[in-house]
Amino acid sequence: MQKKRAKRTQRAIRCPYCGAVADIRPAAEIYQDPRRTDELYVCRNYPCCKSYVGIYPGTKIPMGPLANGDLRNLRIRAHRKFDRLWQSGLMKRQEAYRWMADFFCIPQRDAHIGMFSEYRCNELIKKCDSLLAQSQSAVS
Ligand SMILES: [Zn+2]
Repeated sequence: MQKKRAKRTQRAIRCPYCGAVADIRPAAEIYQDPRRTDELYVCRNYPCCKSYVGIYPGTKIPMGPLANGDLRNLRIRAHRKFDRLWQSGLMKRQEAYRWMADFFCIPQRDAHIGMFSEYRCNELIKKCDSLLAQSQSAVS
């Protein structure tokens, strides 16, 4: 008779899409890029469920909730849109980051698009669009 031992009490990181536990795996394996030396939390259902997130180097702390491909693409789109704010000269880069933090009422250290939820990405894209449209109509 085997007596099951209680699992280690370390808090499991779970996938917000399918609920599976996420395991730490080398990023080189997921990105198929042997130059990567970092690690990721990867959903146990990967690659059916394409969700993962980076880990702060030297820790087991995830950089945010796991994100799937759709969310990662949305973050890239949101970042490109945001970058246009300062690339277009509408504001300086630093100002743009401060503006974004103020817009979401979050501290500047949390104003990282790479950690944004779908909701925040969409809000940011909308807001950037209206700011950029305003500045264009002001010029013409
Ligand atoms: Zn999953």
